[in-house]
Amino acid sequence: MRELVQQTEHVVIKIGSAVFLRDQLHVDRPAFASLVEGIDDLIRRGWSVTLVSSGAVAMGRQWLGEAAGPGREIPRLQAYAALGQSRLMEMYETEFSHYGRKVAQILFSRGDLSERPRYLNARQTLATLEELGAVAVINENDTVATEELRFGDNDQLAAMTAGLVGAETLILLSDVAGLKEVEFGPAGERRLGATVESIEVDDPRIDQWAGPSATGVGTGGMISKVRAARIAARSGATTVIAPGKERRVLQRIADGEAVGTIFDPGNSPTVAGRKIWLGSSALATGKITCDQGARRAIRRQGASLLPSGITAVDGDFEEGAVVELCDEKGQIFARGLTVYGAQDLRAIAGHQSQKIESILGFKVLDAAVHRDNLIIL
Ligand code: GLU
Repeated sequence: MRELVQQTEHVVIKIGSAVFLRDQLHVDRPAFASLVEGIDDLIRRGWSVTLVSSGAVAMGRQWLGEAAGPGREIPRLQAYAALGQSRLMEMYETEFSHYGRKVAQILFSRGDLSERPRYLNARQTLATLEELGAVAVINENDTVATEELRFGDNDQLAAMTAGLVGAETLILLSDVAGLKEVEFGPAGERRLGATVESIEVDDPRIDQWAGPSATGVGTGGMISKVRAARIAARSGATTVIAPGKERRVLQRIADGEAVGTIFDPGNSPTVAGRKIWLGSSALATGKITCDQGARRAIRRQGASLLPSGITAVDGDFEEGAVVELCDEKGQIFARGLTVYGAQDLRAIAGHQSQKIESILGFKVLDAAVHRDNLIIL
């Protein structure tokens, strides 16, 4: 696995606020400088690097100082982000200028990546920046994000970015050193063991071992990193979770040293183009419940979903919408583009495909969700 990471061509590096903060408020400038030195080193090795950086909120709060006050309500945090985002960029600009590099700011809202045309546009812009030799620094557009429509945190945003730019590797740098094995004592208490060197993303032990954020500086925690690693795996990317404050951490990862935990995408099928978007960034507007036979055919044989396998349709969506497919227990197992709108699907659910035309008066395809527009999660 380490060798595979060494062969990276494009990497997305997520930098958590805790990596360059001394405490909750103050920037550890030497730590930040050495991080940028590491990034420059990777670029000189021939890697393409896209950054996802947190820190806007923290920088805004720091800049305000006393005036910031103790509040943590959302409008206040969004205002801090507005104040701090340019501070954050200024810091990147200054440090990268020592290496003759320019940085470009990109702020994404969840909707920018969930809508296919905007997603493609963003991809084009990132590719052009790459051609121009600029380093893209991405953050969530915090000032306009709403609770319902957030990435969750920058770990998820970074994972979606990995799919967007076609990165083979995602490095999540934070105060989390990696995934640790956990033993449970007689009273259920957690005892931390060794750091896991490498593990497949769908290994069930991960869910037992991962715990929430310890420091409370960022929003992440291990669970969020695991979720991100699983999203990244859907586009075939390997994720490295590593301690961002450790000296030369990026160089050591690139040298193949055992640092942090590697999440191997395992046997996730290799997907391309639209399917990467469907698997990681698209947002579903409806849900289709499938019977066991349909689920098995989709999962095992890569079949399309036929109307005969549908037992329920939730939501009000049009043809072409992104829908989730779930089994009868409500477990989501795939996502795809629906051929028919919700109302039509309800009418043809449970029927053979030969009946579609007589029921609806028209037929587009035999399938309700075609295999070419479907991704198994
Ligand atoms: N976008 C937030 C910031 O820049 C951070 C979100 C996160 O840490 O996940 O302050």
